[in-house]
Amino acid sequence: MDKTNISPDERNEKFLTKLQERDVDVQACFQCGRCSSGCPVGEFFDLSVMEVVRLASYGQEERLLGCHTIWLCAACETCATRCPNDIEIAALMDVLREISLRKGVSPAEPRIPVFHKSFLGSIGRWGRAYEIGMIGTYKLKSGDLMGDMALGMRMFMKGKLKLVPHSIDGKAEIKEIFSGKGKEYDR
Ligand code: SF4
Ligand code: SF4
Repeated sequence: MDKTNISPDERNEKFLTKLQERDVDVQACFQCGRCSSGCPVGEFFDLSVMEVVRLASYGQEERLLGCHTIWLCAACETCATRCPNDIEIAALMDVLREISLRKGVSPAEPRIPVFHKSFLGSIGRWGRAYEIGMIGTYKLKSGDLMGDMALGMRMFMKGKLKLVPHSIDGKAEIKEIFSGKGKEYDR
């Protein structure tokens, strides 16, 4: 972690209130490290899970929005399950990703939000993931045209990827969810 001193003046109270509203009690952390030691993808993080929680408890929103960890987290919930204080760490990562997108912060892992948007766009349009359409959108937007091509071809040959999207019941309801009607967000 960056060893620069943290000044109390940098404490973002709005961020801390947002965490309270989501029932993410970062102040309960006593830095035992169980979250970090159980994280299956922690070796790829620039900030360990317990560092993220500690910085969050200090209201260091800006530092957290610029890190790789919030995008590499796989939302598996292992950390929250292992935490003796029941801190909702996966929800904390979610809040940080949301704030980052709403504030237009340049993500440290730019391809990951592009993938998320392609996936959610597919769900919003078809009601479920239409893999070929979703991957096509992701590749065009990310510029990663050749990545995983061999794997994609193997999946196609095994019938795992369908050329046309499946139709499902309740598409209108799903579109309604994606319209965000009735939800108000602040930046
Ligand atoms: S497991 Fe919970 S209490 Fe322990 S360091 Fe992680 S967040 Fe803090
Ligand atoms: S939810 Fe994220 S931070 Fe927590 S254990 Fe899973 S990958 Fe690691």
